[in-house]
Amino acid sequence: MPAQTASPALFASLIDDVVASGSDTVPVPSPATGERHHDLPRSTGDDVRDAVSRARLAQLAWARAGFAHRRRVLLRAHDLILERRELLLDLVQIESGKTRGQALEELVQAAAVTRYNALEAQRVLRGRRVRAGLPTLVTTRVRYRAKGVAGVITPWNYALSLAAMDVVPALAAGCAVVQKADDQGALSILALRRAFIDAGVPEALWAVVTGSADEAGEALTDTVDYICFTGSTATGRRIAGKAGRRLVGASLELGGKNPIIVLDDVDPVQAAADVAYGCFSAMGQLCVSIERIYVHRKIAGPFTAALVERLSDPKLGSALDFDADYGSLASAAQLTRVTAHLDDALAKGATVLVGGKPRTDVGPWFFEPTVLTGVTPEMDVYAAETFGAIASLYLVDDEVEAVLAANASEYGLNASVLTRSSKTAKRVSDALVAGSVNINEGYRGAFSSVAAPMGGVKASGLGRRNGREGLLRFVDPVTVSRTTGVLALPRTGAEFRALEGPFLLLTRALRAIRRS
Ligand code: NAP
Repeated sequence: MPAQTASPALFASLIDDVVASGSDTVPVPSPATGERHHDLPRSTGDDVRDAVSRARLAQLAWARAGFAHRRRVLLRAHDLILERRELLLDLVQIESGKTRGQALEELVQAAAVTRYNALEAQRVLRGRRVRAGLPTLVTTRVRYRAKGVAGVITPWNYALSLAAMDVVPALAAGCAVVQKADDQGALSILALRRAFIDAGVPEALWAVVTGSADEAGEALTDTVDYICFTGSTATGRRIAGKAGRRLVGASLELGGKNPIIVLDDVDPVQAAADVAYGCFSAMGQLCVSIERIYVHRKIAGPFTAALVERLSDPKLGSALDFDADYGSLASAAQLTRVTAHLDDALAKGATVLVGGKPRTDVGPWFFEPTVLTGVTPEMDVYAAETFGAIASLYLVDDEVEAVLAANASEYGLNASVLTRSSKTAKRVSDALVAGSVNINEGYRGAFSSVAAPMGGVKASGLGRRNGREGLLRFVDPVTVSRTTGVLALPRTGAEFRALEGPFLLLTRALRAIRRS
């Protein structure tokens, strides 16, 4: 790649890497202006099938190349991500409208995921010897075979880090990837991919397609050997149905309506700062963002005052620097969604505690971080995921009421509790039903711990990314047994009769010494 600054020539060279044979394009706007920023090609179903076929060939050599080679290449890619950070941060901001701070969170996450998988893949996937069913007669090993081609579908909100969390473990495990990039995150993904290609990943091993869900998306889920989907619960259910019919595996990272519990022993000002960040980093357009705040009635006064003070006059902006604290919503569709939830809530009697207004003076899709009170079950914002700019605040009388309310959701992605007491934190976190629980933070503790599994329960998804679990998705365990020839296995009735006594003796002995 020649230039490493965000320029039209660089955008064109990145877009050239999309597997697309036709001349159809769509304009992609930037949230900073709402104006067309670049055009993206549309991959056809045939383009996707071609990419999968070529990835399948490339995967054979990649799997054979072994862990040490893959580790070297991935660690080089890690270093290139850091070297190219200014470009990657620019692209993330240009496409998503988030602040440079949140773009940096993405970049750090992508680098950490790359380092983790490069260093851990061999340890997790090298296979192992297990106790054989017929000791001395047989030896048994489990080895892991890469599944082949993984199809990765990522949404627009965290293009860089979500791509890394699926693509890198797939590569580390010896798989190839064909990724359907969302239009609004494609440049970031293509620049990330370039770092991996320049580090030594073969071009065909990680192919990027763009295009419609109906054509490119369906062609992808029809042909790959494993599906990694990140997106809404509605689409996740559809993809789960497809994976079920094809009998291929899938990890589904879906929506959330994440709660935070603020107990009465915390410093209200500090708690307000934590809650504001948990709710409105990336303007709430992160799957693990907080949308429900349960505050103990005893500290509700000072906590609410501190929250209002923190969120009044928010520092909004879209410049490619660290000046702003809050960015833009990512698209006109996001603004419509947020406005619809707000209008519905206000029409049904909710009150705006702080925020509540679009900020077209800053940019077309900017919206103030908004906290509502008086939210009731008949309002859309009560149970449905808003995925942007709005959180609802409820008062609770005690910890039990808070936990029951937090768990009363169809979702179970992330949950948080703020308390000074480690005993209380343990009790509450044990009781919260979610894929991750953060104590004294909104989401960053768990989200940044790339050695730990990340995912949801209930309607928030199936399967896990990150950690050992994130790697094990991409392999099939294969059990390989070998007869040693020390003694022949019985075949006739007489041979079985002769072995019955020794067999019972062995079985009872294993039971007595409590061995498996
Ligand atoms: P979405 O509508 O489900 O779309 C997600 C991606 O899937 C898009 O790229 C979309 O392509 C593609 N897609 C849609 N239908 C498809 C199909 N039938 N086959 C293949 N691909 C298909 O989700 P979104 O509204 O863009 O994203 C926001 C949602 O993602 C929120 O619910 C959020 O909570 C969730 N999310 C979850 C996590 C997590 O880790 N749990 C992380 C981030 C976001 P098109 O754009 O072409 O339609």
